[in-house]
Amino acid sequence: MTRPDNADDGFAAERERMVVHQIEARGIADARVLAALRAVPREAFVPTVERAFAYEDHPLPIGAGQTISQPYIVALTTAGLGLRGGERVLEIGTGCGYAAAVLGQIAAEVHSVERIESLAAQAREHLAGLGIANVHVHCADGSLGWPAAAPYDAIAVTAAGPEIPAALKAQLAPGGVIVMPVGDRHGHQELLRWSRGADGRERAEPLCDVRFVPLLGAQGFTP
Ligand code: SAH
Repeated sequence: MTRPDNADDGFAAERERMVVHQIEARGIADARVLAALRAVPREAFVPTVERAFAYEDHPLPIGAGQTISQPYIVALTTAGLGLRGGERVLEIGTGCGYAAAVLGQIAAEVHSVERIESLAAQAREHLAGLGIANVHVHCADGSLGWPAAAPYDAIAVTAAGPEIPAALKAQLAPGGVIVMPVGDRHGHQELLRWSRGADGRERAEPLCDVRFVPLLGAQGFTP
């Protein structure tokens, strides 16, 4: 795992405190996930006025009415995918690109889909600025996945839908895992870890109660 270029070490101590107090203290022990969080400079993904708050224990606004997820939720989602390195991963809901960068530290290749063009463009800039080349951002309705690069070993959805889209299940490789918040548009949601066994049986395991922005699209909530 290589550290992205240009990390601003003025934030190194805050990043370390975040990993220890928000992530490890809450029981996330996956060494790959912890190393990825230590490597990605979160301050490079938030608007300049929010930089001082980049390592706080809650979501932050990133423009266009959207947010960068709380660090713990990024960690829980990434750990839920059980990546070991070398995978091809799909993320739906790029936002600022932070979670995609974290996934890209572990996986071989990440495709991330964002429906708002201005956010997709910003995320591409953030990633390019750090020299991250294995994360590809696409502007489209991610509730339909990204068929061009399917199948994926793992899929992370970072916006909440009424159910796991059939399109995403169809683009998952055998033995793959989907982590996605499912529930009400603005009310109760659960982060689910979904998989399909060799016998074809589907399993959905709740990881945590969450509050995400809605997944808007053909297989999400009505835009
Ligand atoms: N992964 C981000 C979280 C972004 S918030 C992080 O690292 O913090 C969720 C994002 O999902 C928003 O930017 C929103 O615009 C996007 N989104 C909502 N519906 C979508 C859809 N159908 N396809 C792609 N992106 C979608």
